[in-house]
Amino acid sequence: MLPYGRQSIDDADVAAVVAAMGSDWLTTGPRVAAFEADLEAVAGAPCVTVTNGTTALHAAYAATGLTPGDEVITTPMTFVATASGAAMLGATVVFADVEEDTANLDPAAAEAAVTSRTRVISAVDYAGVPADYDRLRKITDSAGVFLLGDAAHSIGSTYRGRPVGTLADLTTFSFFPTKNLTTGEGGAVASTRPELLERVRDFRTVGSIRDPQRLRRPDEGSWHYEVHEFGLNYRLPDVLCALGSAQLRRLAGFKARRARLTARYDELLADVPGLRLPAQRSEVDPIRHLYPVRVKDGRRREVYDRLRAAGIGVQVNYIPVYWHPVFEDLGYRRGMCPVAESFYAEELSLPLFADLTDSDQDRVVEALRGILGS
Ligand SMILES: *Cc1c(COP(=O)(O)O)cnc(C)c1O
Repeated sequence: MLPYGRQSIDDADVAAVVAAMGSDWLTTGPRVAAFEADLEAVAGAPCVTVTNGTTALHAAYAATGLTPGDEVITTPMTFVATASGAAMLGATVVFADVEEDTANLDPAAAEAAVTSRTRVISAVDYAGVPADYDRLRKITDSAGVFLLGDAAHSIGSTYRGRPVGTLADLTTFSFFPTKNLTTGEGGAVASTRPELLERVRDFRTVGSIRDPQRLRRPDEGSWHYEVHEFGLNYRLPDVLCALGSAQLRRLAGFKARRARLTARYDELLADVPGLRLPAQRSEVDPIRHLYPVRVKDGRRREVYDRLRAAGIGVQVNYIPVYWHPVFEDLGYRRGMCPVAESFYAEELSLPLFADLTDSDQDRVVEALRGILGS
Protein backbone atom coordinates (compact mmCIF):
# COMPACT_ATOMS: atom_id res chain seq x y z
CA MET A 1 0.00 0.00 0.00
CA LEU A 2 1.36 3.41 -0.97
CA PRO A 3 0.94 5.45 2.25
CA TYR A 4 -0.56 8.94 2.36
CA GLY A 5 2.40 10.09 4.42
CA ARG A 6 5.60 8.59 5.78
CA GLN A 7 9.01 9.45 7.19
CA SER A 8 12.23 9.95 5.24
CA ILE A 9 15.26 8.48 7.02
CA ASP A 10 18.75 8.72 5.51
CA ASP A 11 22.22 7.55 6.60
CA ALA A 12 22.94 10.77 8.48
CA ASP A 13 19.74 10.32 10.51
CA VAL A 14 20.75 6.76 11.41
CA ALA A 15 24.30 7.84 12.30
CA ALA A 16 22.98 10.56 14.63
CA VAL A 17 20.84 8.04 16.52
CA VAL A 18 23.66 5.48 16.73
CA ALA A 19 26.04 8.13 18.13
CA ALA A 20 23.47 9.07 20.79
CA MET A 21 22.95 5.43 21.75
CA GLY A 22 26.66 5.06 22.54
CA SER A 23 26.85 8.26 24.59
CA ASP A 24 26.38 8.75 28.34
CA TRP A 25 22.80 9.95 27.95
CA LEU A 26 19.77 8.14 26.65
CA THR A 27 17.25 10.59 28.00
CA THR A 28 17.82 14.20 29.12
CA GLY A 29 21.32 15.10 27.92
CA PRO A 30 23.04 17.58 25.62
CA ARG A 31 21.07 16.57 22.52
CA VAL A 32 17.82 17.84 24.04
CA ALA A 33 19.18 21.37 24.43
CA ALA A 34 20.82 21.13 20.99
CA PHE A 35 17.56 20.09 19.31
CA GLU A 36 15.67 22.85 21.14
CA ALA A 37 18.20 25.40 19.83
CA ASP A 38 17.93 23.96 16.30
CA LEU A 39 14.14 24.19 16.52
CA GLU A 40 14.35 27.81 17.64
CA ALA A 41 16.29 28.64 14.48
CA VAL A 42 13.34 27.42 12.38
CA ALA A 43 10.44 28.42 14.65
CA GLY A 44 11.78 31.90 15.44
CA ALA A 45 11.07 31.45 19.18
CA PRO A 46 12.54 29.40 22.03
CA CYS A 47 11.22 25.82 22.19
CA VAL A 48 10.71 23.10 24.80
CA THR A 49 10.60 19.51 23.52
CA VAL A 50 7.98 17.05 24.74
CA THR A 51 6.98 13.46 23.97
CA ASN A 52 4.49 14.14 21.14
CA GLY A 53 2.09 16.67 19.64
CA THR A 54 -0.73 15.63 21.95
CA THR A 55 1.36 16.23 25.08
CA ALA A 56 2.61 19.50 23.55
CA LEU A 57 -1.00 20.68 23.45
CA HIS A 58 -1.67 19.44 26.99
CA ALA A 59 1.43 21.25 28.30
CA ALA A 60 0.63 24.43 26.36
CA TYR A 61 -2.92 24.53 27.71
CA ALA A 62 -1.62 23.86 31.22
CA ALA A 63 0.74 26.85 30.82
CA THR A 64 -2.24 29.13 30.17
CA GLY A 65 -3.59 28.15 33.59
CA LEU A 66 -6.85 26.71 32.22
CA THR A 67 -9.29 25.66 34.92
CA PRO A 68 -12.83 24.21 34.90
CA GLY A 69 -15.30 26.80 33.70
CA ASP A 70 -12.88 28.36 31.22
CA GLU A 71 -13.75 28.21 27.54
CA VAL A 72 -11.40 27.40 24.67
CA ILE A 73 -12.48 28.29 21.15
CA THR A 74 -11.10 26.07 18.40
CA THR A 75 -11.73 24.54 14.99
CA PRO A 76 -13.41 21.17 14.50
CA MET A 77 -11.24 20.50 11.42
CA THR A 78 -8.31 19.00 13.31
CA PHE A 79 -7.03 15.96 15.16
CA VAL A 80 -8.91 15.47 18.43
CA ALA A 81 -5.90 16.45 20.58
CA THR A 82 -6.35 20.17 19.78
CA ALA A 83 -9.60 19.98 21.74
CA SER A 84 -8.96 17.15 24.19
CA GLY A 85 -5.86 18.78 25.72
CA ALA A 86 -8.10 21.62 26.92
CA ALA A 87 -10.99 19.35 27.89
CA MET A 88 -8.69 17.23 30.06
CA LEU A 89 -7.92 20.32 32.14
CA GLY A 90 -11.63 20.80 32.69
CA ALA A 91 -12.17 23.56 30.13
CA THR A 92 -15.24 23.73 27.92
CA VAL A 93 -14.40 23.46 24.23
CA VAL A 94 -16.34 25.79 21.92
CA PHE A 95 -16.13 24.90 18.25
CA ALA A 96 -16.15 27.75 15.72
CA ASP A 97 -16.49 27.14 12.00
CA VAL A 98 -13.74 27.22 9.38
CA GLU A 99 -12.99 29.21 6.24
CA GLU A 100 -14.49 27.64 3.16
CA ASP A 101 -11.23 27.44 1.17
CA THR A 102 -8.41 26.75 3.68
CA ALA A 103 -10.47 24.86 6.31
CA ASN A 104 -8.63 26.99 8.90
CA LEU A 105 -10.43 28.57 11.87
CA ASP A 106 -12.57 31.45 10.55
CA PRO A 107 -11.63 34.58 12.56
CA ALA A 108 -15.17 35.95 12.26
CA ALA A 109 -16.65 32.74 13.68
CA ALA A 110 -14.05 32.70 16.47
CA GLU A 111 -14.85 36.32 17.34
CA ALA A 112 -18.57 35.57 17.50
CA ALA A 113 -17.88 32.74 19.97
CA VAL A 114 -15.98 34.90 22.50
CA THR A 115 -17.62 35.23 25.94
CA SER A 116 -16.46 36.49 29.33
CA ARG A 117 -15.28 32.92 30.08
CA THR A 118 -13.05 32.58 27.00
CA ARG A 119 -9.42 32.03 27.93
CA VAL A 120 -7.75 30.66 24.77
CA ILE A 121 -8.38 30.70 21.02
CA SER A 122 -6.62 27.80 19.28
CA ALA A 123 -5.98 27.80 15.55
CA VAL A 124 -4.68 24.90 13.46
CA ASP A 125 -2.52 25.37 10.35
CA TYR A 126 -4.46 22.84 8.29
CA ALA A 127 -2.39 21.05 5.64
CA GLY A 128 0.57 23.34 6.45
CA VAL A 129 -1.16 26.62 5.53
CA PRO A 130 -0.93 29.02 8.49
CA ALA A 131 -4.21 30.33 9.88
CA ASP A 132 -4.98 34.05 9.61
CA TYR A 133 -2.92 35.03 12.66
CA ASP A 134 -3.09 38.83 12.23
CA ARG A 135 -6.88 38.77 12.35
CA LEU A 136 -6.90 36.21 15.19
CA ARG A 137 -4.39 38.29 17.16
CA LYS A 138 -6.66 41.35 17.00
CA ILE A 139 -9.47 39.28 18.50
CA THR A 140 -7.37 37.71 21.28
CA ASP A 141 -5.80 41.10 22.15
CA SER A 142 -9.13 42.84 22.47
CA ALA A 143 -10.61 39.93 24.47
CA GLY A 144 -7.47 39.64 26.64
CA VAL A 145 -7.09 35.91 25.98
CA PHE A 146 -4.28 33.62 24.80
CA LEU A 147 -3.70 32.72 21.15
CA LEU A 148 -2.49 29.15 20.61
CA GLY A 149 -1.29 27.74 17.28
CA ASP A 150 -1.42 23.99 16.68
CA ALA A 151 1.34 23.82 14.09
CA ALA A 152 1.53 20.02 13.86
CA HIS A 153 1.32 20.44 10.05
CA SER A 154 3.30 23.60 9.55
CA ILE A 155 6.81 23.69 11.02
CA GLY A 156 8.79 25.48 8.30
CA SER A 157 5.84 27.58 7.06
CA THR A 158 5.78 31.37 7.17
CA TYR A 159 2.91 33.88 7.36
CA ARG A 160 3.62 37.37 5.96
CA GLY A 161 7.30 36.46 6.17
CA ARG A 162 7.13 35.47 9.86
CA PRO A 163 7.87 31.87 10.87
CA VAL A 164 5.26 29.63 12.49
CA GLY A 165 6.40 29.70 16.12
CA THR A 166 6.24 33.51 16.41
CA LEU A 167 2.59 34.01 15.46
CA ALA A 168 0.80 32.89 18.61
CA ASP A 169 1.47 33.06 22.37
CA LEU A 170 2.11 29.32 22.32
CA THR A 171 2.74 27.13 19.28
CA THR A 172 2.81 23.33 19.31
CA PHE A 173 4.58 20.91 16.96
CA SER A 174 4.35 17.16 16.32
CA PHE A 175 7.16 14.94 15.05
CA PHE A 176 5.05 11.87 14.29
CA PRO A 177 6.35 9.93 11.25
CA THR A 178 3.69 11.26 8.87
CA LYS A 179 4.47 14.90 9.76
CA ASN A 180 7.02 17.17 8.08
CA LEU A 181 9.92 15.85 10.13
CA THR A 182 10.04 13.04 12.64
CA THR A 183 11.55 11.80 15.89
CA GLY A 184 9.34 8.68 15.89
CA GLU A 185 7.13 10.12 18.60
CA GLY A 186 7.92 13.69 19.56
CA GLY A 187 6.72 17.23 19.86
CA ALA A 188 7.59 20.71 21.07
CA VAL A 189 6.10 23.95 22.31
CA ALA A 190 7.43 27.30 21.08
CA SER A 191 6.77 30.62 22.76
CA THR A 192 8.09 34.15 22.59
CA ARG A 193 6.87 34.65 26.17
CA PRO A 194 9.49 33.29 28.63
CA GLU A 195 7.04 32.97 31.54
CA LEU A 196 4.76 30.71 29.49
CA LEU A 197 7.62 28.56 28.24
CA GLU A 198 8.89 28.18 31.81
CA ARG A 199 5.49 26.78 32.80
CA VAL A 200 5.65 24.34 29.88
CA ARG A 201 9.13 23.23 30.98
CA ASP A 202 7.98 22.72 34.57
CA PHE A 203 4.91 20.77 33.44
CA ARG A 204 6.89 18.38 31.21
CA THR A 205 9.34 17.69 34.08
CA VAL A 206 6.74 16.49 36.64
CA GLY A 207 6.51 20.02 38.01
CA SER A 208 9.99 19.86 39.53
CA ILE A 209 12.04 23.03 39.90
CA ARG A 210 15.80 23.27 40.55
CA ASP A 211 16.55 26.92 39.79
CA PRO A 212 17.78 28.34 43.18
CA GLN A 213 16.07 31.67 42.41
CA ARG A 214 12.70 29.98 42.39
CA LEU A 215 13.10 27.59 45.35
CA ARG A 216 11.09 28.27 48.48
CA ARG A 217 13.88 26.76 50.61
CA PRO A 218 17.11 27.38 48.66
CA ASP A 219 19.39 26.45 51.59
CA GLU A 220 18.25 22.86 52.01
CA GLY A 221 21.26 21.38 50.19
CA SER A 222 22.38 21.01 46.59
CA TRP A 223 20.27 17.85 46.10
CA HIS A 224 17.17 19.91 46.74
CA TYR A 225 14.37 20.44 44.27
CA GLU A 226 10.73 21.41 44.75
CA VAL A 227 7.38 20.79 43.13
CA HIS A 228 5.13 23.86 43.18
CA GLU A 229 2.50 22.64 40.70
CA PHE A 230 1.63 19.16 39.44
CA GLY A 231 3.10 18.10 36.12
CA LEU A 232 3.81 14.97 34.08
CA ASN A 233 6.88 13.29 32.65
CA TYR A 234 6.71 14.47 29.04
CA ARG A 235 10.48 14.52 28.38
CA LEU A 236 11.68 13.70 24.88
CA PRO A 237 14.76 11.41 25.09
CA ASP A 238 18.23 12.43 23.91
CA VAL A 239 18.24 9.62 21.33
CA LEU A 240 15.11 11.02 19.67
CA CYS A 241 16.40 14.59 19.87
CA ALA A 242 19.49 13.43 17.96
CA LEU A 243 17.18 12.25 15.18
CA GLY A 244 15.27 15.54 15.38
CA SER A 245 18.38 17.66 14.83
CA ALA A 246 19.42 15.48 11.89
CA GLN A 247 15.93 15.75 10.39
CA LEU A 248 15.84 19.54 10.84
CA ARG A 249 18.94 19.83 8.66
CA ARG A 250 16.83 18.27 5.89
CA LEU A 251 13.70 20.36 6.44
CA ALA A 252 14.39 22.85 3.63
CA GLY A 253 14.83 19.91 1.24
CA PHE A 254 11.61 18.31 2.48
CA LYS A 255 9.78 21.61 1.94
CA ALA A 256 11.12 21.96 -1.60
CA ARG A 257 10.17 18.39 -2.50
CA ARG A 258 6.67 18.79 -1.03
CA ALA A 259 6.26 22.04 -2.99
CA ARG A 260 7.37 20.31 -6.20
CA LEU A 261 4.95 17.40 -5.65
CA THR A 262 2.14 19.86 -4.87
CA ALA A 263 2.83 21.75 -8.11
CA ARG A 264 2.79 18.45 -10.04
CA TYR A 265 -0.58 17.46 -8.52
CA ASP A 266 -1.94 20.95 -9.30
CA GLU A 267 -0.87 20.58 -12.92
CA LEU A 268 -1.74 16.92 -13.49
CA LEU A 269 -5.17 17.12 -11.81
CA ALA A 270 -6.26 20.52 -13.17
CA ASP A 271 -8.65 19.08 -15.76
CA VAL A 272 -10.05 16.12 -13.79
CA PRO A 273 -13.83 16.57 -13.50
CA GLY A 274 -15.54 16.53 -10.13
CA LEU A 275 -12.39 17.47 -8.25
CA ARG A 276 -11.51 20.70 -6.45
CA LEU A 277 -7.82 21.32 -5.71
CA PRO A 278 -6.40 22.81 -2.46
CA ALA A 279 -6.47 26.51 -1.65
CA GLN A 280 -3.59 28.93 -2.21
CA ARG A 281 -3.13 32.09 -0.13
CA SER A 282 -0.70 34.77 -1.25
CA GLU A 283 0.30 35.87 2.28
CA VAL A 284 1.66 32.46 3.27
CA ASP A 285 4.63 30.33 2.25
CA PRO A 286 3.48 26.93 3.48
CA ILE A 287 5.27 23.65 3.85
CA ARG A 288 2.77 21.36 2.13
CA HIS A 289 1.92 18.75 4.74
CA LEU A 290 -1.23 17.39 3.04
CA TYR A 291 -2.66 17.54 -0.44
CA PRO A 292 -6.38 17.76 0.42
CA VAL A 293 -8.64 17.52 -2.64
CA ARG A 294 -12.42 17.87 -2.56
CA VAL A 295 -14.39 15.13 -4.33
CA LYS A 296 -17.69 16.56 -5.57
CA ASP A 297 -21.05 14.93 -6.36
CA GLY A 298 -21.15 12.75 -3.24
CA ARG A 299 -18.43 10.46 -4.59
CA ARG A 300 -15.79 10.82 -1.83
CA ARG A 301 -16.50 7.45 -0.22
CA GLU A 302 -16.46 5.63 -3.56
CA VAL A 303 -13.18 7.30 -4.58
CA TYR A 304 -11.64 6.50 -1.18
CA ASP A 305 -12.64 2.83 -1.41
CA ARG A 306 -11.51 2.40 -5.02
CA LEU A 307 -8.12 4.09 -4.46
CA ARG A 308 -7.53 1.96 -1.36
CA ALA A 309 -8.45 -1.15 -3.36
CA ALA A 310 -5.85 -0.06 -5.92
CA GLY A 311 -3.19 0.07 -3.18
CA ILE A 312 -3.24 3.85 -2.77
CA GLY A 313 -3.50 4.77 0.90
CA VAL A 314 -5.55 7.93 0.81
CA GLN A 315 -6.77 9.43 4.09
CA VAL A 316 -9.59 11.66 5.34
CA ASN A 317 -8.51 14.70 7.38
CA TYR A 318 -10.57 15.16 9.52
CA ILE A 319 -13.75 13.82 11.05
CA PRO A 320 -15.21 16.99 12.68
CA VAL A 321 -13.95 16.70 16.25
CA TYR A 322 -17.33 17.15 17.94
CA TRP A 323 -18.70 14.13 16.03
CA HIS A 324 -16.64 11.87 18.29
CA PRO A 325 -18.89 10.17 20.86
CA VAL A 326 -16.90 11.73 23.73
CA PHE A 327 -18.23 15.12 22.61
CA GLU A 328 -21.60 13.79 21.49
CA ASP A 329 -22.10 12.42 25.02
CA LEU A 330 -21.44 15.92 26.39
CA GLY A 331 -24.29 17.28 24.24
CA TYR A 332 -22.45 18.48 21.13
CA ARG A 333 -24.61 18.00 18.04
CA ARG A 334 -23.98 17.56 14.33
CA GLY A 335 -24.69 20.68 12.29
CA MET A 336 -22.85 23.08 14.64
CA CYS A 337 -20.18 23.99 12.07
CA PRO A 338 -21.74 23.49 8.62
CA VAL A 339 -18.73 24.72 6.62
CA ALA A 340 -16.43 22.23 8.35
CA GLU A 341 -18.99 19.46 7.87
CA SER A 342 -19.30 20.05 4.13
CA PHE A 343 -15.52 20.24 3.84
CA TYR A 344 -15.28 16.90 5.66
CA ALA A 345 -17.91 15.33 3.38
CA GLU A 346 -15.72 15.94 0.30
CA GLU A 347 -12.17 15.82 1.66
CA LEU A 348 -9.57 13.28 0.56
CA SER A 349 -5.83 13.56 1.28
CA LEU A 350 -3.70 12.17 -1.56
CA PRO A 351 -0.27 10.65 -0.85
CA LEU A 352 2.28 13.38 -0.16
CA PHE A 353 5.68 12.89 1.50
CA ALA A 354 9.27 13.83 0.72
CA ASP A 355 10.27 10.42 -0.66
CA LEU A 356 7.18 10.04 -2.89
CA THR A 357 8.52 9.41 -6.40
CA ASP A 358 7.19 11.08 -9.54
CA SER A 359 6.16 7.69 -10.90
CA ASP A 360 4.20 6.77 -7.75
CA GLN A 361 2.54 10.17 -7.96
CA ASP A 362 1.69 9.52 -11.62
CA ARG A 363 0.06 6.25 -10.55
CA VAL A 364 -2.13 8.14 -8.07
CA VAL A 365 -3.15 10.61 -10.79
CA GLU A 366 -3.94 7.87 -13.30
CA ALA A 367 -6.02 5.93 -10.76
CA LEU A 368 -7.99 9.06 -9.92
CA ARG A 369 -8.56 9.82 -13.61
CA GLY A 370 -9.71 6.25 -14.12
CA ILE A 371 -12.36 6.64 -11.41
CA LEU A 372 -13.56 10.17 -12.15
CA GLY A 373 -13.30 9.69 -15.93
CA SER A 374 -11.36 12.11 -18.09
C1 LIG B 1 -0.63 14.92 14.57
C2 LIG B 1 -1.42 16.02 15.15
C3 LIG B 1 -1.51 16.22 16.53
C4 LIG B 1 -0.97 15.25 17.55
O1 LIG B 1 0.35 14.95 17.39
P1 LIG B 1 0.92 13.52 17.91
O2 LIG B 1 2.40 13.72 17.82
O3 LIG B 1 0.41 12.49 16.96
O4 LIG B 1 0.46 13.32 19.29
C5 LIG B 1 -2.21 17.33 16.99
N1 LIG B 1 -2.80 18.18 16.14
C6 LIG B 1 -2.75 18.01 14.80
C7 LIG B 1 -3.40 19.01 13.91
C8 LIG B 1 -2.07 16.92 14.27
O5 LIG B 1 -2.06 16.73 12.94
